[in-house]
Amino acid sequence: MPPFEPPQLGPETRDPAQTFWDPEVQTQDPEVRAKLRDARAHELVSRILDTPVPLFQRKLRSAGIERAEDFAGVADLARVPLTRKQELRDSEAERPPLGEYRFTDLRRCVRIGQSTGTTGTPTTMLWTRHDLWVEHESGARMLWRAGHRPGMIATHAHPAYLYGGGAMLSGTYEYFGLVNLWVPPPDTDALAEQGIRAWMRFQPDIPFVGFSLGRYFEVSAKLGLDPRKDVGLRIPSLGGGGKGMPLMTAGLECYCYVGSPCARSPGAHLNEDWAVVQAVDPATGRDVPDGEWGNLVVTTLDRDNGMLRYDLEEACAIVREPCPCGETTARGFWGGRFKDLLACQGKRFQLSEVETALRTVPAVTEPSLEYAVVRPKDEGAPLVVRAELGTGGGSADDASRACSAALTTKLGVRAEVEILTRGTLERSGYKTNRLVER
Ligand SMILES: [Zn+2]
Repeated sequence: MPPFEPPQLGPETRDPAQTFWDPEVQTQDPEVRAKLRDARAHELVSRILDTPVPLFQRKLRSAGIERAEDFAGVADLARVPLTRKQELRDSEAERPPLGEYRFTDLRRCVRIGQSTGTTGTPTTMLWTRHDLWVEHESGARMLWRAGHRPGMIATHAHPAYLYGGGAMLSGTYEYFGLVNLWVPPPDTDALAEQGIRAWMRFQPDIPFVGFSLGRYFEVSAKLGLDPRKDVGLRIPSLGGGGKGMPLMTAGLECYCYVGSPCARSPGAHLNEDWAVVQAVDPATGRDVPDGEWGNLVVTTLDRDNGMLRYDLEEACAIVREPCPCGETTARGFWGGRFKDLLACQGKRFQLSEVETALRTVPAVTEPSLEYAVVRPKDEGAPLVVRAELGTGGGSADDASRACSAALTTKLGVRAEVEILTRGTLERSGYKTNRLVER
């Protein structure tokens, strides 16, 4: 047998008192990092041209980049046209099953996943062992920044099998050294109860947060349990209500753990050694000034299967002032998906801002907030929102008036809130569709 080192899955342990997971990289001199980024961007371009990777090769050619020597570094990315998700879908449809944007053969990878398809046909995602390592290291920086340390018990309820998110999060927890308490997504009450009972037995140090949190509140109540006292659940604050949230991810298909917040400054420290994250004006392809909103565009670095100028069709802003925490990377803000941006009565707002407003109304929030927003079509019409009556008592008319008033205060729009009996709206174990067409 050849010798095998290290004899464990994941990295060496480190001093829990140290400030950063990877001090050398996270506090690197930005000028040194800029050289590394240029070299890695250059390598990406060389591999696109040499492999070749036809979809990205066409993008480079249309920017006049025929040979690697035509590309100097990160600054030249502004010349390269953006890549949208629909192009990836189209490419997979034209050249099934993987399309023309892969750098490696499927058999060089170890993991395959599909998007949930909430925004259309699912796309396929591939990870080599190296690409998983990049994600795990990036995730470890995030967990360390959040104050988590190996030996803590963490929990999640991400979907599994063809959806890659659950395996990615589980792998990241285990690589970091957390106890990975993976409970099933609460698609049914029985599955939700499995998670609730497991949490009561093992008592995670890091309580569950996730899209399906409301399901656990609701099913705990059905079981006669207090979701906070008996199960240990709590509702985290929603931050800025959709504006100025830290930029945490560029999607499973591009860069799952692109950045995360420190405790000192707003925004998320971006892993700039592994990605060029840009806030771009889609009309010109150029970066918008620092601090202004643009399209989130990500080019991944040092990956086996990379992404070039991927436009996530989400809002992003970037600031580069030094942070007192000592990390030397730029920070990113996330302004929501353009698809979730609503406009009516001259106002523009995110779906999450509707949720923040409704959460201030106790009559619809116990044991969980269940709501749907009808996508506004007529500019002058009231915003139509449906919400289920809570179990705390009170009349539907009072609840409707309170919700309308909260929406007017928070968003500055007139709203018609239809109150439904509990259990009317569809439940989901993961991401619930809150935006309906009528
Ligand atoms: Zn910081």
